[in-house]
Amino acid sequence: MASSIFSSKQQRPPTQYRGRFAPSPSGLLHFGSLIAALASYLDAKSNKGLWLVRIEDIDPPREQAGASDEILKTLEAFGLHWDESVLFQSQQSPLYLEVLNYLAEHNLSYYCHCTRAEIKKVGGIYQNHCRYLAHVNKNSATRIINSQKIIRYNDLIQGIVECNPELAQEDFTLVRKDGLFAYQLAVVVDDIYQNISHVIRGCDLLEPTARQLSFFKLLAKRPPLYGHIPLAVTSEGYKLSKQNKAPAIDIKNPQPALHAALTFLGQQPPDELLLMTTEQIITWAIAHWSLANIPKKRQINFFN
Ligand code: GLU
Ligand code: ZN
Repeated sequence: MASSIFSSKQQRPPTQYRGRFAPSPSGLLHFGSLIAALASYLDAKSNKGLWLVRIEDIDPPREQAGASDEILKTLEAFGLHWDESVLFQSQQSPLYLEVLNYLAEHNLSYYCHCTRAEIKKVGGIYQNHCRYLAHVNKNSATRIINSQKIIRYNDLIQGIVECNPELAQEDFTLVRKDGLFAYQLAVVVDDIYQNISHVIRGCDLLEPTARQLSFFKLLAKRPPLYGHIPLAVTSEGYKLSKQNKAPAIDIKNPQPALHAALTFLGQQPPDELLLMTTEQIITWAIAHWSLANIPKKRQINFFN
């Protein structure tokens, strides 16, 4: 059960690595999510750290029935065994509400009545229109007062990342108009709650990271270190995703997908690994893991 992040006494000993993989159960794992899971796992284990799994199930309309179970089964079949118990964001509402109350009490958030169409009209980036209008909550979104001005950070894989300043400094959404908690709220609160020290994930989240860093600063919490791996894209340049029907990976035959994922991540796995057990492949991969060998590209065509 969620407890406060403000009163939390847990302070990470500086040497403890705590990584995580945080899939949304909107579909089964595909090759793109496997590389993110594998990279975060290998980085944690090669640093003698813990690797946690968090199911980001805060968006019921986009959820696929049974996907959480399937994702967990797939991770196990691929030899990616997690530490501690799986955290489900759907169980974390009291904590999100506590943070929302804190922000409201400290005048760090406000209600926004703007529609998607209105934001589109001003160029697609929200211009903080409702910041000082003191709206009441009438079917409205809640936005943060994002005054931290973080637009650049040092990424463990990509080096210095410069974000679009307008996007990075937008007053982003904490609660959506439909009343659901927004990704940025849940992800930051849970990275604090789980005391995460390292986040290794896909380059689709490079830009949101600036917002997340601002949010940590606003809450006076130490942020994790971030490393973003290249995205696997289709020949047309689209991200492999559940939406564009990227193939789910074969739970009965993990070796080829693990080998392909290690190749994608620049780890140069020898062909002999294909004849080994899943456990042996993972053991090899932990021993040979090198962040420096991951290509610094933001996307790589998977079907080459
Ligand atoms: N749940 C997000 C996704 O599936 C990932 C969140 C994160 O790693 O911060 O894309
Ligand atoms: Zn507004």
